[in-house]
Amino acid sequence: MKFNEYKYQRPDLEKVKKDLETQLALIGESQPYEVEKNAIEEMYKINDYVGSQEVLVSIRNSVNTKDDFYEAEQAFFDENGPVLQQYDHEMNLKLLKSKHRKQLENHLGTLIFKRAELALKTFKPEIIPDMQKENKLSTEYDKLIASAEIKFKDKTYNLSQMSPFIQDKDRETRHQAQLAVSKFFEENESKFDRIYDDMVQVRHKIAKSLGYENFVQLGYDRFGRTDYDFNDVKKYRDQIFEDIVPLVSELTARKAKRLGIESPKSYDLALSFLSGNPTPKGDRDWLLKRAKKMYHEMSAETDEFFTFMMEHELLDLDSKPGKQGGGYCTYIPDYKSPFIFANFNGTSHDVDVLTHEAGHAFQVYSSRDLLADYRWPTMEAAEIHSMSMEFLAWPWIDQFFLEDTEKYKFNHLAGAISFLPYGVLVDEYQHGIYENPKLTPEERKVLWRTLEKKYMPFKDYGDDKFLDKGTFWFRQGHIFSTPFYYIDYTLAQVCAFQYWVMSQEDREKALESYLALCKLGGSKSFVDLIDSANLKNPFVKGSVKKIVKPIRSYLDKVDDSKL
Ligand SMILES: [Zn+2]
Repeated sequence: MKFNEYKYQRPDLEKVKKDLETQLALIGESQPYEVEKNAIEEMYKINDYVGSQEVLVSIRNSVNTKDDFYEAEQAFFDENGPVLQQYDHEMNLKLLKSKHRKQLENHLGTLIFKRAELALKTFKPEIIPDMQKENKLSTEYDKLIASAEIKFKDKTYNLSQMSPFIQDKDRETRHQAQLAVSKFFEENESKFDRIYDDMVQVRHKIAKSLGYENFVQLGYDRFGRTDYDFNDVKKYRDQIFEDIVPLVSELTARKAKRLGIESPKSYDLALSFLSGNPTPKGDRDWLLKRAKKMYHEMSAETDEFFTFMMEHELLDLDSKPGKQGGGYCTYIPDYKSPFIFANFNGTSHDVDVLTHEAGHAFQVYSSRDLLADYRWPTMEAAEIHSMSMEFLAWPWIDQFFLEDTEKYKFNHLAGAISFLPYGVLVDEYQHGIYENPKLTPEERKVLWRTLEKKYMPFKDYGDDKFLDKGTFWFRQGHIFSTPFYYIDYTLAQVCAFQYWVMSQEDREKALESYLALCKLGGSKSFVDLIDSANLKNPFVKGSVKKIVKPIRSYLDKVDDSKL
């Protein structure tokens, strides 16, 4: 069956609620173990059924936003989704009261109980109005960002349309593009300050009313982080500062030399090569044919997966009118089907979709038979699967990039390592903010700039006074909408680098470990997952240093004059 034949029918909400209530009545109420176990499994089945319909709607709505039918169905789920979430909350409450907890833990694993405990800590009905306020502020931020109309070279652009100019080969174009973007943020400075301040205050209030000291731990708990805390994260950031910042400073100086620039400015950082960035050498069908061959040769498991994706037409890759922007990977439980959505644009991003998003899709495909709650891991673990697949694809990457292969590999590695200091800067900033919710907007900017100088000492804003006073974070949506999320990308990257190192030494061994990790899905917490895969725990001192040496030695061997 092809994706287009996957059948959508709006669920009968009243029947769903009744079914959920029937099952809920059998959990945590002194019923025999078997009855309780079956009721829990039935709850998962009902959720999968509703979830499948909801995912079908959201995919079809994003593929064609002009389709009125799916637009209306999307509105139906937007409105009723939160109503159904209430049943999950009740299931968590009842699960924790169960007399058969030990037996259930043996059958279902302990993790869902730990997650249920966390979920209960982070929610009580009294905070709903404040959570609604938080959501409203996020929407307000998104709208403000989307409202940008940047006048540049006699035309008007939105923020993402400005990114080609930010990476333009002509230095003065990059410089003026940065100033034009800054102007938008400067004109709206008081709005960004006000939205963020309101967010910080409402989050602090929610944290207090849930019994937390401040928002920091609540931020962690919301992501279901069961096995590390802010002390571990601090130790990790310190390693990035000590081991990675010097390397990135060197790489930046090296890039300036490659670009022929005396003293590099912030607007020089997005361009890697004077000859332009690497691009894939073919269209969608050309790339898919190569991806198919790559996954066939990689392993029996990846071959089965990618054949399944192609046969069921589970990739929607072309950019077309009416299609939503961006890219994602999702999963339709009742059809056991991952789905990849993207907007191909002829840049190296197209290949990233076929490795990174396919890595996510392969992981969920590998864990499709696990308990519904264990299909996806927490975010920092989920990105290991996608980022590592980018590296495991290296032996085939020349098939996509032909003469640009060496440029691509260099850029992939140098780009990923250069991201780490920025990633932990975003994290440390947020700790400073939520530990001191009373900071004024001006004090926040000073804090940002201070940390920026610590982690990105090479970032010189030149004549851009606005960015120089500490406002770059205005454009980092995660800081506004999903506090404390950003560190996840960096933690996963440090783990993915270990797969890169491993695969340089022994490709088979790296792949075997990766396949096993994918099969575990989200059945374990982050640290337990990396322990099972024998990866070094990024929180433990020395683990970051370990990856620096082989990466540095690879990059050092590359002759810049040949790129
Ligand atoms: Zn990802």
